[in-house]
Amino acid sequence: MVVIIAALVPACTPATVHHHVGGKAAAATVTTPPPPATTTTTVPLVPWTGSVEHLFFHTLVVRPDLAFGPHDSLAQGLRDYFVTVTEFGRILEQLYANGWTLVDIHRAVAGQVRVPPGRRPFVLSEDDVNYYDYSRLRGVGWRLVLDQAGAVKVELRDASGTHVTGEDLIPMVDDFVARHPLFSADGAKGVIAVTGYEGVFGERVQDATAPDVADRVTRAKAIADRLRATGVDACQSQLWTYRPQP
Ligand SMILES: [Zn+2]
Repeated sequence: MVVIIAALVPACTPATVHHHVGGKAAAATVTTPPPPATTTTTVPLVPWTGSVEHLFFHTLVVRPDLAFGPHDSLAQGLRDYFVTVTEFGRILEQLYANGWTLVDIHRAVAGQVRVPPGRRPFVLSEDDVNYYDYSRLRGVGWRLVLDQAGAVKVELRDASGTHVTGEDLIPMVDDFVARHPLFSADGAKGVIAVTGYEGVFGERVQDATAPDVADRVTRAKAIADRLRATGVDACQSQLWTYRPQP
């Protein structure tokens, strides 16, 4: 049931990222405006006319022991097509250090990409942001939630209970961009792809008979609103349309 396009994965690994450009020079151009209304940092941007790379991930493996421990086909699929929280953190650090900057996919399509001087653009996408039943008990998140500050986090459930943490792609990118303004141009974060199969964001909104379906829809809409407000686009899965198998 692990659904992925293997052909895309090699192009998405950090091993393909070897460009070394002037991150230090660009860093010197960051200016922080007086913070009366907001505390966002203004990054000067210049037009980019070259190609725009694309990195693709799934939701992250938070518990490698649960994901990879059993000797079964699911463990192999998770090993082949997913990365862990630790790995993704290292990938972000490498991308940043090697001069890459997140850009908006719509700007990429329109040929209007802009980047901080000396940096290179890429689009980040996250597929299957559904938290399918098959993966929930195998060390992947349970669903996306909003914390008390309104930020997107991931809910994890295991034998010890329910936990809300920042150990997933979206909260990690949010945090990284907040700490490294040069890593995002025009407020871009990425594109998430949902399939509709087993709901969205871990909310099982497809089950119209559930007594709390209205609450599920409300929670999913709140997540979507927050994502849109913080630079994340959503689309139907660009790689696959899930159809439940009989
Ligand atoms: Zn996928």
